[in-house]
Amino acid sequence: MNFADFYRQSIDDPQTFWANEARLIDWHKPFDQAMDYSRPPFTKWFVGGETNLCHNAVDRWVATRGDEPALIMVSTETDTEKVYSFRELQAEVMRMAAIMRSLGVTRGDRVLIYMPMIAEAAFAMLACARIGAIHSVVFGGFASNSLATRIDDAKPKLVISADAGSRGGKSVAYKPLLDQAIDIAQHKPAHVILVDRGLMPMERKAGRDIDYAAARERYLHADVPVTWLESNEMSYVLYTSGTTGKPKGVQRDVGGYAVALASSMRHIFCGKVGETYFSTSDIGWVVGHSYIVYGPLIAGMATIMYEGLPIRPDAGIWWRLVEKYKVTRMFSAPTAVRVLKKQPPEFMRKYDLSSLKALYLAGEPLDETTSEWIASALGVPVIDNYWQTETGWPILSVAKGVEDTPTRLGSPGMPMHGYKVKILNESTGAVCSANEKGVVVIEGPLPPGCMQTVYGDDARFVNTYWSNFASEQVYSTFDWGIRDQDGYYFILGRTDDVINVAGHRLGTREIEESISSHPNVSEVAVVGIEDKLKGQVAVAFAIPKNAEAIATTEGRLALEGEVMAVVDKSLGSVARPARVYFVTLLPKTRSGKLLRRSIQAICEGRDPGDLTTIEDPASLEQIRGVVKG
Ligand code: ATP
Ligand code: MG
Repeated sequence: MNFADFYRQSIDDPQTFWANEARLIDWHKPFDQAMDYSRPPFTKWFVGGETNLCHNAVDRWVATRGDEPALIMVSTETDTEKVYSFRELQAEVMRMAAIMRSLGVTRGDRVLIYMPMIAEAAFAMLACARIGAIHSVVFGGFASNSLATRIDDAKPKLVISADAGSRGGKSVAYKPLLDQAIDIAQHKPAHVILVDRGLMPMERKAGRDIDYAAARERYLHADVPVTWLESNEMSYVLYTSGTTGKPKGVQRDVGGYAVALASSMRHIFCGKVGETYFSTSDIGWVVGHSYIVYGPLIAGMATIMYEGLPIRPDAGIWWRLVEKYKVTRMFSAPTAVRVLKKQPPEFMRKYDLSSLKALYLAGEPLDETTSEWIASALGVPVIDNYWQTETGWPILSVAKGVEDTPTRLGSPGMPMHGYKVKILNESTGAVCSANEKGVVVIEGPLPPGCMQTVYGDDARFVNTYWSNFASEQVYSTFDWGIRDQDGYYFILGRTDDVINVAGHRLGTREIEESISSHPNVSEVAVVGIEDKLKGQVAVAFAIPKNAEAIATTEGRLALEGEVMAVVDKSLGSVARPARVYFVTLLPKTRSGKLLRRSIQAICEGRDPGDLTTIEDPASLEQIRGVVKG
């Protein structure tokens, strides 16, 4: 089938389209109605149907593929590698579920998971899904304050955690951070299950803290049946990264999510039963939920869970795993590719990568240089995909499983089935013409898999996402974009990354793109800082490719001048940065997102804010240093 027809059907007749897609998963009880959009913008999917995420990810495959690999756990931090078959995974999930039940956790209760990338984290998520408890995974890098906010919002009955994580061979304490978070939080969870990895000593709180290994022994032969859930019951809450403000608790359903994942695994990621999928993300992010744990397993694939850095023991580690487990589809982020690009290319040639069919990248803009470099190094298509925690699966991409649509450099692709994407003029709300910049919005109903609401706050869901245009009620992504004459979309940054220079509104991302076109700039961040005369001015922090060029003051000034000239030429002098500073590192979150707000705060002499997930704090010191200098 051609994609255009496939897409059109999903928009013109969502009831029939999604009823068909729903056949990709198992239903305990068939649904009465595929879609209920009687109370916009809230959408219900597969009303009256009963299913279960854990059943579809695990039990469903036990009968036919019981001894085949399901979860491949690799840690280069603790030098461990273990393969769980579907049957073994089911047994572990039932043990975890039995422990949870013994603590009184039942359908609808929240369970907060604050764990490193260990197999028990996947068992915990799947065990929640199995018994109808609602998980809320909090990224293991978050510090006590961020964790406490999430505890108070989700109000979990139970927390599942571990003694420590590990990064670059160094243990990172979890338990003391958790204890502190529970101290700070208003809400006090009744119990904490602790996986003791033997990395760090732990203090235990009598009556509250439970040792996982001991409890597991008691439930070795547990047989916990699946709890069938109505499709619109909640499966989980996941907080957005908080790049642009207070994190929002994204609430997801059961049936719609399962169908969306099955559908995206088939049409976008082209995963086949029995193959191996490798996503390098973390279970603390949405990619980890959708494409480490649930998606691949629902598709009957083995999934690799990886704890460690991409360059340890050396830059060949990921490719060794691709060879060893015959990975067919791999998912990563541009930031990880940029890390690899700094390493000698031999590491990519050392392994047999012939099993690999495609590399998917998401999370931040994929620049052309990075994209071309990795595509030629691997010799496989690189498929950019654009989405958000809120949507749970790609909004823009190419669906190679439907039709071999060509990709276009710099573009994450076109709207995926079910997403009625439009670009609207920010002030008039009119639909933009081809190549005209506007806000990327989605017309309701959102397809299955997308957020149901903001957890516990329907009003915030409507006010935040659906109330940005007076002309019509549409979901705003808060990203700028354009659509070209052939229907390919380009993402131009976030709507709040806008600066106002003497009355001109400029996107920092556009200025960054312009600067990146200079041959001696490898990466750049642009922020707007206060200026008495103009309101704001742009300031750039660039990483030069060739550091020698700026070794002398003359060299530095020359490069600064050249960069300014590039901006003058492409965007005009209003966009010209007042200063171009050179650094070797830029502050980013662990998921690769530029911390523009923190850079801006430093430039304006303010507190850089919540930095618990910053990749490398030294980057901020550099910014402070160059700005002072
Ligand atoms: P918060 O919403 O709390 O500020 P966040 O937006 O960083 O946090 P995520 O949901 O993890 O949280 O990130 C989604 C955003 O990441 C998108 O809205 C977009 O800005 C960016 N993004 C994701 N994928 C791509 C891509 N392929 N190309 C360009 N930008 C992308
Ligand atoms: Mg966001």
